[in-house]
Amino acid sequence: MLAMLKFLPGNLPRSFYVYTECVQCCRRQLILYGRAISPNHHVRKYSMPTGQVKSLRSMISPPISKIRNIGIMAHIDAGKTTTTERMLYYSGYIRALGDVDDGDTVTDYMAQERERGITIQSAAVTFDWNGHRINLIDTPGHVDFTVEVERSLRVLDGAVAVFDASAGVEAQTLTVWRQADKHSVPRICFLNKMDKSSASFSYSVESIKEKLKAKPLLLQLPIGEGKSFQGVVDLLTMETVCWGARSSEDGGRIFKRIPLKDTKDHALLSSATQARHALLEQIADLDDEFASLMLEEYSADFTLIPLEKLQSAVRRVTLARSAVPVLCGTSLKNKGVQPLLDAITSYLPSPEDCTHDFMSWYKDDLCALAFKVVHDKQRGPLVFVRIYSGMMKSQSAVYNINRNCTERMSRLLLPFADQQVEISSLSPGNIALAVGLKQTATGDTIVSSKSSAAAASRRAGRGGEKTDKTLPEDLVLAGVEIPEPVFFCTIEPPSVARQSDLENALKCLQLEDPSLKVKIDPDSGQMILCGMGELHIEIIHDRIRREYGLQTFLGPLQIAYRETVLTASIASETVDRTISDNRHQATAEVEVKPLTDGGPIVEYAEGLQQSLSGGYKEAIENGIHSAYFTGPLLGSPLQDVQVTVHSISILPGTSATVVSACISRCLQKALKKAEKQVLEPLMRLEVTMGEEYLGTVLGDLAQRRGNIQEIQSRMDNKVVSAFVPLAELMGYSTDVRSLTSGSATFTLELANYEGMDFQDQNALLRKRGLL
Ligand code: GDP
Ligand code: MG
Repeated sequence: MLAMLKFLPGNLPRSFYVYTECVQCCRRQLILYGRAISPNHHVRKYSMPTGQVKSLRSMISPPISKIRNIGIMAHIDAGKTTTTERMLYYSGYIRALGDVDDGDTVTDYMAQERERGITIQSAAVTFDWNGHRINLIDTPGHVDFTVEVERSLRVLDGAVAVFDASAGVEAQTLTVWRQADKHSVPRICFLNKMDKSSASFSYSVESIKEKLKAKPLLLQLPIGEGKSFQGVVDLLTMETVCWGARSSEDGGRIFKRIPLKDTKDHALLSSATQARHALLEQIADLDDEFASLMLEEYSADFTLIPLEKLQSAVRRVTLARSAVPVLCGTSLKNKGVQPLLDAITSYLPSPEDCTHDFMSWYKDDLCALAFKVVHDKQRGPLVFVRIYSGMMKSQSAVYNINRNCTERMSRLLLPFADQQVEISSLSPGNIALAVGLKQTATGDTIVSSKSSAAAASRRAGRGGEKTDKTLPEDLVLAGVEIPEPVFFCTIEPPSVARQSDLENALKCLQLEDPSLKVKIDPDSGQMILCGMGELHIEIIHDRIRREYGLQTFLGPLQIAYRETVLTASIASETVDRTISDNRHQATAEVEVKPLTDGGPIVEYAEGLQQSLSGGYKEAIENGIHSAYFTGPLLGSPLQDVQVTVHSISILPGTSATVVSACISRCLQKALKKAEKQVLEPLMRLEVTMGEEYLGTVLGDLAQRRGNIQEIQSRMDNKVVSAFVPLAELMGYSTDVRSLTSGSATFTLELANYEGMDFQDQNALLRKRGLL
């Protein structure tokens, strides 16, 4: 028997694909332009009816109403990876089930994630279900990755929260859930691990009510719990959905839907009837349209309410976030995942349902957000983008607003599971992988051209005339600011010979993760890694080892302080050297003083700048630059210090290095004489907790030099916003959990740098042996 996979008509776009089954081996797979993407498949000629061609076109770029950009959020080990894997399997994109325990799943593709069994970086994966295009975006749950979470919440329209049904709501789900509340993301809940003997449907539902302060909308009831869990009752259709005893062999592909009235289980029938009644009442309470439908048209018999009416009411309630649909199952034992996929397509929003202000600025022009950069050894950086408006085309030039540069995109791919399919263009609402963007970093905004960005800026009412200067900051749509790193440590390559390998690895990692910064210590020449937290730096260290094969050494973790001056002071300095019979001499006078708002960092005495040649001017700035990065107290960078070069005399023929050294030394001298202050990172802390813990949390913050800004109520919780010095927040995550029995969650970001008081500063200097 020959395969039925055949050539497509020649007038189709180059990058056309069909998704179909090979008759020879019965495997479903992607066929690109008549050629199987996976090897070893037979391809034959085939002419396709026009209607079918149209439907294939919509498969590549589906109508926007059929797109679902969905995040999966979960506590570590709740089953996020296993559930994703099952989804890919049922939708046909992978042929065999991977197992997180064996470390061969598709979404946890970074080696180190495989080993740790946790998902840190958000990767997106695309598949189709029921005529819908689903883009799954992974959301990390750890506090160190707040930026990653915020960024992924920015590109997704809805989310699935996966719970371990034996544990109910756990700390990390709480964190991400609250962030999703803040971003108004509609959600559905999946109670996983119903096969565990300690699993409890009712306990989990209660914990959703109590801890998440959400209204659960039970769309299913479990049939059996623990070992006897077989499937669910669909309360909308009043059918049982059951997987047979062989579900571990067929991967749970086969299941039976049987009308509930045909079962002999009377107890189940009666509890399901009751649950459905409660569900209808709950929906009617939350949705006026459904309430009037029930009262006016179906008051005599609620069982006659058409399924579509019921489903659209559930969808309205979900989108309004007045309740969350709850489903259950066990991904590992292959039960309940297909109904979850149905629920994603039926109840979660399409990109059409979620509009953003900036979309109207661009109208039909391209506007996309690069939300993730991944390095591929062969193809270079692969950039995950979400398109908000306009078309994205392969082999086209695009303009990156953040970097203020034009880049050429060579190819556009759809990230289907472990294969990527090339496409020629993609419409709004979609997620794609762009190849060829070399400068683009995570979080950048991509538009079609500089002039289209300027037009958008005008539409946004930001004054088109000054666009050239203000564009980069003005129109960055991401809304997710890259925070300043607050921790740092030195990093050393295994040997001097591997220094350039390390530099290259760090360059790639920085494009992927803009919250990572790398500097060189001007004194020691050592490389310094700056990051957001302990785990952040540890993970970078791990990735360098695994992905780049470099065993690096890290110094102790330190807080990134800064320094400033409180008074003005002047110093002069001469450097006089004879290098191979040539005399090099420079004399400078430099003043430092506190920088007032809006003043330039470097100033020259009148006429001095004009009298300098280009090379010396650069040498002077380099000298200032290097001194600026090593302050006099701790060797931390300076902030808010103005440097005035009063005079400089240079003997003809003096090298630029000597000029730099002279300026740098002179500046250091001036700094030494001035009154100085250490600036410490002040963090904006937001703690969310149940009301009963408010007093405890406030008391603890007072001891940490915390300055409470505001106490708000959010969904029956209390949210405390405070400014707290970073130095006082070491170990906060453990402490706050033990103070609140694990119920509080928090987010942390740098607010600004603030002067330390004299006593604290001296204590710090003494601790470092500098006083
Ligand atoms: P993640 O950390 O949320 O991505 O969770 P994983 O998918 O990596 O799963 C964590 C662990 O739970 C693994 O050992 C899985 O085999 C196991 N697991 C996942 N789903 C189920 C389930 O439905 N039932 C049971 N009993 N174990 C599960
Ligand atoms: Mg995982």
